Amino acid sequence: MGAPGVGKTALTRQFMTSEYKGTYAEANTPDILEPERNVHVLLDGEESTLHFLDEEQHPDFEAEDIPIDAYVVVFAVSNTASYNQAVKSLRTLREEHRINKAVILVGNKIDLARQRRIAKHDALRIAKKFDCRYIETSAALNHHVDELLVGILSQIRQQIAPS
Ligand code: GDP
Repeated sequence: MGAPGVGKTALTRQFMTSEYKGTYAEANTPDILEPERNVHVLLDGEESTLHFLDEEQHPDFEAEDIPIDAYVVVFAVSNTASYNQAVKSLRTLREEHRINKAVILVGNKIDLARQRRIAKHDALRIAKKFDCRYIETSAALNHHVDELLVGILSQIRQQIAPS
């Protein structure tokens, strides 16, 4: 989820080049799930396939009855409007829809340091308020992109089999 232009496509593309990328063969992908948005991740000796859906292409994902394990809400740290939209999405997920799945807030474009408008501590505070993880990334520099990928999978595994 996230405003247009924040880097959702760029982050998903970078996931494909991750050092955690597994080798699992494409199999039985339901029609609705475009295979190019599948990322196979090898973590702790176990391979998982993550499929990324873009809210823009599936605005009514609940009605489509797509099972969702985690929500990744992205904004650009250089763009206040995208941050406000992200906060709105967090509120909608947690307060309106009462979703208790993993939600990860991502502040992307941290390479644009001089154009930063959203301070890390503000984003951290809002993430805490809505019980989310917060991570800062740069899809352009491939900075913390692997950490994000691993973070998403770890959160999903944790909620499936809490340790
Ligand atoms: P989407 O609409 O959220 O999918 O955004 P895109 O992934 O298409 O990215 C929008 C624009 O932002 C493109 O020109 C990207 O090259 C650029 N972009 C994406 N991530 C970054 C980043 O981390 N830093 C910078 N400087 N530009 C980025």
